[in-house]
Amino acid sequence: MGRVRVAEYAAHPEERSAHTLLMFMIYLDNNATTKPCASAVDAAQHAMAELWSNPSSVHRSGQDTRQAIEIARARVARLLSVKPRDLTFTAGATESIDLALRGVIDSVAGTRRVIVTSPIEHEAVRETCSSLADAGVAEIVHLDVSDQGVVSTDHLQEILEDRSAEVALVSVQWANNETGSIQPVQRVGTLCRDHSVLFHTDATQAVGKLPIHLDTGPERTAFIPSMGDPSADVSAVDPKHVVPVDLLSCSAHKFHGVKGAGTLFARRGVRVIPQTRGTQERGRRGGTEAVPAILAMGAAAEEAMDFVSSPDCAERIASYRDYFEQRVTQLNQSPQINCPSPPFGRLCNTTNIAFPSLEAEIILLALSERGIAASAGAACSSGSLDPSPSLLAIGIPEHLAHGSVRFSLSKHTTREELDRAASVLSDVVTKLTK
Ligand code: PLP
Repeated sequence: MGRVRVAEYAAHPEERSAHTLLMFMIYLDNNATTKPCASAVDAAQHAMAELWSNPSSVHRSGQDTRQAIEIARARVARLLSVKPRDLTFTAGATESIDLALRGVIDSVAGTRRVIVTSPIEHEAVRETCSSLADAGVAEIVHLDVSDQGVVSTDHLQEILEDRSAEVALVSVQWANNETGSIQPVQRVGTLCRDHSVLFHTDATQAVGKLPIHLDTGPERTAFIPSMGDPSADVSAVDPKHVVPVDLLSCSAHKFHGVKGAGTLFARRGVRVIPQTRGTQERGRRGGTEAVPAILAMGAAAEEAMDFVSSPDCAERIASYRDYFEQRVTQLNQSPQINCPSPPFGRLCNTTNIAFPSLEAEIILLALSERGIAASAGAACSSGSLDPSPSLLAIGIPEHLAHGSVRFSLSKHTTREELDRAASVLSDVVTKLTK
């Protein structure tokens, strides 16, 4: 189906059924989830129609399914510049994170119990850490974060110098889901390696948006996008861009795959105690594999590889994002951008804007009514919206955090859509502030 233009949305407001709504929607919520790409949908459909045998079965059709899974694993491995055998498929990033954190804590039980993390992690990390602390099996130490939303590597260095023998692992996200801030993962990984401490990164928002070159130790395989050859000489990658990582989590539906598949990369030799027992995934994650979602993840990884290999795509999206911010700040009374400013890195697709004295939820509902999908970092608890802990942690005052809205673009977002979104937003904010 071709692209539906903004004008058509206005022309057919009566057709807003659940089906047509998404077609007409200006979708600026790509950090929540992305539209599956055509090749991912085809792969999932093919799996459901043809490759529905159990990949653990020894018969021929089971083995065909197994082979398709291994092809998908190789594709995802290429995107992450790692060896396929070091990837464990999971149901998504939340499960991957849970497996990494619990799996490592279980493996070092009785010796190391400190997890060093940051207060701006996604709740998948935050909640897993809290539950490990509540169970008395881990002590959580939080890194300082600057007002630009960047974790302090000086603070990490101090902690590691004082307590490295107690640290089970350091978990710092690659990029923030709300503000798009890119974390100094290269420095974090280097400090961890210097102190013989494991480094886990939640790369859910980075994979598919940024090139990923991992230094996984002596067996490192770096993929060099410009050469398109995974076996190319690793020394050709600028060492500044090679990140020492032991464990990495990501999710297919954030890079145009379908929901239900993610992966945990664990460097060979890193002990991760399985949290779901069974023989699948080399014993790391029991349960029959979600074949449609996994094959779709492989297909989406191929497309993501093309995206990260051509910096022009990310530059175009960043220029659209900047254009949108410019339009919004011109049109409305003093909204504040909650994102890092140069030289600090930011995801090309993300902006987060605070509207003083308004509630994000009301803005979102009004935008949704007019065909625009965005989101807020706040979570609903006990009938009220709690401001995002990540925004509070970077020093955004509570009244601004309450009125903060995240707009996240994709490679499909057009300037026309952003023009429309900016003027609707202006209208909405003007009406609500009256
Ligand atoms: N980590 C980050 C940074 C995310 O943005 C998300 C989803 O928004 C997750 C983890 C959880 O991902 P999933 O939905 O695959 O469990």
